[in-house]
Amino acid sequence: MPNFNAYYQRLIQDANDSFLRTAVEKALTNYKDRKIASLKRIKNIPDLAKELEKRRKDSTEHLEENIEKAIEVLEVNGMKVYQASNAEEACKKTLELIGNEKLVTKVKSLTTEEIGLNEYLEEHGIEIWETDVGAVLLQVAHRKAAHPTGVSISVPKEVFADYFSKLAGRQLPPDPKVLVAFVRDFIREKCFESKVGISGANAITADTGTIYLVTNEGNDRLVTSLPDKHIIIAGIDKIMPDRDTANLYCQVMPLYTTGHYTTQYITQIMGISSSSDIERLSVKPAAGPAEIDVVLLDNGRRKIVEDPDFKESFICLRCGTCLYDCPVWNIVAHDFGEYTYMGGLGVAWTLFTLGLEAVATQAFSCTQCGRCKEVCPMEIDTPKIIRKTRSLLLGSKTVPRQISAMLANVNQRGSPYAK
Ligand code: SF4
Repeated sequence: MPNFNAYYQRLIQDANDSFLRTAVEKALTNYKDRKIASLKRIKNIPDLAKELEKRRKDSTEHLEENIEKAIEVLEVNGMKVYQASNAEEACKKTLELIGNEKLVTKVKSLTTEEIGLNEYLEEHGIEIWETDVGAVLLQVAHRKAAHPTGVSISVPKEVFADYFSKLAGRQLPPDPKVLVAFVRDFIREKCFESKVGISGANAITADTGTIYLVTNEGNDRLVTSLPDKHIIIAGIDKIMPDRDTANLYCQVMPLYTTGHYTTQYITQIMGISSSSDIERLSVKPAAGPAEIDVVLLDNGRRKIVEDPDFKESFICLRCGTCLYDCPVWNIVAHDFGEYTYMGGLGVAWTLFTLGLEAVATQAFSCTQCGRCKEVCPMEIDTPKIIRKTRSLLLGSKTVPRQISAMLANVNQRGSPYAK
């Protein structure tokens, strides 16, 4: 049985944390202002989102076919593809692919968080470094992400300064410019030293086997280009039927994640770098990695697609726009749920990747206000998914004591309140 009381105590502490409140408020104001400005510039993004939703739903119906096509073309492009049915298999395969190397760099990826990759590799003696500014902070502070893309938006700059000063071995001021400059130098050094880079994928196309990575910081380019080996760990939900759909995704996603109408970098990887500059002979590798491995992860995803009550969650973009409008997330941020997939959007994902007990506290934190559904670019009915999850929890008697008591009162006296 999950410890509901300890969880609710944490939420109460968050509600009284004025630093957390200020950080979330600032992040929200910046996001909303940027989104309004972006929509003035590029007005049709919501229409593109509707088209993307249609295509994502359609490609879910052809999931196995798309996986098969993607694997075939990725291999034609010279990448090695492995399938992992669960987190353990994915971690083991990644360790095997890393071989004898002891230093690895990584671009922030929810999928690798889902499988606990960093912890697994560290337990096996590998030094692994995140390379996003926010992800480095979470790594050194052992904190949970607050949002699928803005992982550190609930952290004030003073906290960044404390942790980065320890990492730097000198006092750094709480000045974002100085702090980002420090991380820039720090991760560049690690990337030049490391022989293996790990990334997720924002999309993998089934027609051309193109890996898409969407970032603002440009660290994906360092991690995926400098080392000798690039390992991509991606859920099968990232497979898109064609480049048109992936390009549509790249046009839609930024507005709903950061409020910007585009991102700084959209990287497309089609295979191992090659040069045909000498007598037109194709020689591989050229400047980039000599090996690219793709680990395709199921870990409950096929079960989501098979379940009519949860299937719509499969097309979630993990943009996190629903969190910005969620009254619970606005108060407790990273603590809305105990695992990687937080908030309402994460309920189905926690359920299918970790099981019923893991999702209990998260499912019973929702107010059912319905704002998430109103703002979701994929029109996912998250409140309905949460209600369904609660009914499963009720069936397994995994509910907070207070709710059981209210239920008993209703059954006995027709009122949720005690006498
Ligand atoms: S549920 Fe919708 S708004 Fe929330 S992360 Fe998924 S796609 Fe974005």
